[in-house]
Amino acid sequence: MYGEGELNARLMLVALSPGQNEDREGKMFIGPSGKILDELLQSAGIERNSLYMTNLIKCVLPKNRKPKQDEIEACSPVLDEEINMLLPDIIVPLGYYATRYILTKYAADPPLAHTDFQAVYGKLIYSNDQKTFPLPHPASLIYNPSYKQETMKKYHKLEILSRDCKWATMCPMKWYFEKGRLQRKWIELYCKGDWESCIRYQKEASGTYHQDWMLPDGSLDESLI
Ligand code: SF4
Repeated sequence: MYGEGELNARLMLVALSPGQNEDREGKMFIGPSGKILDELLQSAGIERNSLYMTNLIKCVLPKNRKPKQDEIEACSPVLDEEINMLLPDIIVPLGYYATRYILTKYAADPPLAHTDFQAVYGKLIYSNDQKTFPLPHPASLIYNPSYKQETMKKYHKLEILSRDCKWATMCPMKWYFEKGRLQRKWIELYCKGDWESCIRYQKEASGTYHQDWMLPDGSLDESLI
């Protein structure tokens, strides 16, 4: 089963595999985890049809078992093809297997231990010219409903990532970048990414003075003076 959704989407969600219902109907996320995903998207103010959604494994995994490495190797070329065709600005892998595959594909140093993946969920990563924003799989809330508030905060960030910073066209960072004085990662991670976390943005919003040579993380780069 291939993905579905907006072909020009800025965000591509990558889940693990279709369930029985999804496979039968040929639709993504229509079972219990789809209900949770819809709730998370709705609370974040994201329209489901503004996204493209697909899976790492293209067939149903019997009894929802874990995928085997040879199954990942057999199916991942199809996912690679979808990524190459759609060129999403940000890939959003959901859960451990999709996150491990995508971070490995872009040489973004995935954690070694399964348990350490919690630390990358909700973090915007830029590696090999690709932005990745791993999130917990919605199905994880079926087993751990107490994580709901924390998970909702992470999904809230999807709405921020769905648009550029409102000051992106007039910010001095744009000018420094166009003059070759600033690394692209600053633009991708903040101006076209998580602008809500930009210290410059926060200072602008509160009317607080900051130097023109302040980087988005709040550090000062005197070479920009
Ligand atoms: S540096 Fe910060 S304030 Fe300036 S455009 Fe980028 S995110 Fe917005």
